[in-house]
Amino acid sequence: MIEDKNQQRTPLSALGEFGLIDHLTTNFKINHKSTIKGIGDDAAVLSHKDKNIVVTTDLLVEGVHFDLSYMPLKHLGYKAVVVNLSDVYAMNANATQITVSIAVSNRFPLEALEELYAGIKTAASIYNIDVVGGDTTSSTSGLLISITAIGEVNKDDVVYRNGAKPNDLLVVTGDLGGAYLGLQVLEREKEVFKVNPNSQPDLEMYTYIIERQLKPEARKDIIKLLKDLNVKPTSMIDISDGLSSEIIHLCKQSEVGCDLYENKIPLDPQVISTCEEFDIDSTTVALNGGEDYELLMTIAQEDFPKIKANPNLTVIGYITEASSGMHLVTRADTKIPIKAQGWNALNDQE
Ligand code: ADP
Ligand code: MG
Repeated sequence: MIEDKNQQRTPLSALGEFGLIDHLTTNFKINHKSTIKGIGDDAAVLSHKDKNIVVTTDLLVEGVHFDLSYMPLKHLGYKAVVVNLSDVYAMNANATQITVSIAVSNRFPLEALEELYAGIKTAASIYNIDVVGGDTTSSTSGLLISITAIGEVNKDDVVYRNGAKPNDLLVVTGDLGGAYLGLQVLEREKEVFKVNPNSQPDLEMYTYIIERQLKPEARKDIIKLLKDLNVKPTSMIDISDGLSSEIIHLCKQSEVGCDLYENKIPLDPQVISTCEEFDIDSTTVALNGGEDYELLMTIAQEDFPKIKANPNLTVIGYITEASSGMHLVTRADTKIPIKAQGWNALNDQE
């Protein structure tokens, strides 16, 4: 019989998502030589012959991670694949296979699931991965999708979260904040629609940010680019929870600090204009808005000439000693500590 030690009832929000993972997993030991990296990075790394295999999994829950009132099922299928592949690329690996597991309530007809799978198929074809299995079961409420992605990487090429060194450059791909703002626009239109179901939203001026939310891409292209440029980052992570949260992961695991320059954070013009419209600070959005699925990496100073002309890669700061702490250097040239206010799945919902 399982002894009931749970007299105490600690709310999960007291730990937060990362605190909870740490708490639950601290006592797991690694017993196999083939387990190169277990819990704690974007993907686990396993040794297989002359290669490393990476494995990562994500669970998407209706009402928590997606809202079907504005998320077409085809896009959902696509996005569910992409968010997993993003973790594979964050290890500098090439994604090769996925498994797809779903739990569905009887609210969904066959045609709905066909749509979902059309999106999964499109992503599999664009990213050149094989769908090799999964599981199907029923749910009492809503839809759950769990995808596991597998990739491979040459042993010398794998990049972890923990390799950043003082003086390394802090580099980000693409631009930030778009996915969060796209969600804000969609949420607003949903409210408008509730009041007036005949309203036809004009979303033309938000196409980029809405696409960032509904149809994100994983940066497979960057893994190839880094290879072509002959650059191996010293550390890397994908930006799923917001820049500040990911910088904190990199710095903590690498035991370093950083200076991040506010005026260097790449923002799309549509992000800037929509921030003005919603009267929110674009830096706050870039730091704390989630789901951009860009890559954050650190690169040795000596590799700077190789990356400096590349429009896909923006230097946003540099790594310092741990004792200096993690700071945002503002446009006014003041230094403020970086805090993770980002997306934290178990915090009390705002
Ligand atoms: P990411 O945002 O890159 O998907 P997470 O923050 O979800 O990463 O997870 C961080 C690490 O914790 C990963 O190594 C992941 O596999 C592991 N992890 C997350 N949840 C669990 C769990 N319930 N049990 C064991 N390991 C977990
Ligand atoms: Mg990740």
